[in-house]
Amino acid sequence: ITFSDLGLSEWAVNTCRELGMKRPTPVQHHCIPKILSGQDVMGLAQTGSGKTAAFALPILNRLAGNPFGVFALVVTPTRELAYQLAEQFRALGSGLGLRVAVIVGGMDIINQSQGLMQRPHIVIATPGRIKVLIEQNPDIPSVFSNTKFLVLDEADRVLGVNFEAELRVIFQCLPKDRQTLLFSATMTPNLQTLLELSVNKAYFYAA
Ligand code: AMP
Repeated sequence: ITFSDLGLSEWAVNTCRELGMKRPTPVQHHCIPKILSGQDVMGLAQTGSGKTAAFALPILNRLAGNPFGVFALVVTPTRELAYQLAEQFRALGSGLGLRVAVIVGGMDIINQSQGLMQRPHIVIATPGRIKVLIEQNPDIPSVFSNTKFLVLDEADRVLGVNFEAELRVIFQCLPKDRQTLLFSATMTPNLQTLLELSVNKAYFYAA
């Protein structure tokens, strides 16, 4: 199986080749066609399995056809993971004129607020800081009103440190008809609850 068999556009297939990604990994093989077809996806996959490209490629493939407003919000547990995700999105979307914002603690909040007001295509955030921004600046919630994708990356860790209040605030800003993509290393009881609340008839992938 090749990346073009999965339904990705030619530019995306070429980018994969340029980045040295010869064949899709199992999580990519199974999840990319489902995400492209509009389904919610819950994937059990470890770091190193290629899970970032499994959601970034179909998101970018869809974004390339309609690049207006904040297209995807990706929530991840730590600052370091947020920067790694941004790096992969930038590499995979290098031909698209992509604008990616990283919203994490410890960085200037005024800059972050202004960055969000410019409606970047991809927002990668840790739960605590994005909640503060949504609550402090009344212009921020509407920035997310046309978001097409919510990704919860390392969702077991996001929930493990109990970001329930933060997730509630984030969910309130997003349209109901978005796609939700949930990736986690393990299935936990918290995650089961979140899955039932936030995901519509998800395709379930486990390695
Ligand atoms: P992740 O599981 O998202 O943390 O990805 C782990 C690493 O694998 C990243 O550095 C990717 O660039 C790389 N990678 C992702 N997909 C592929 C692929 N299909 N072939 C080779 N490397 C890949």
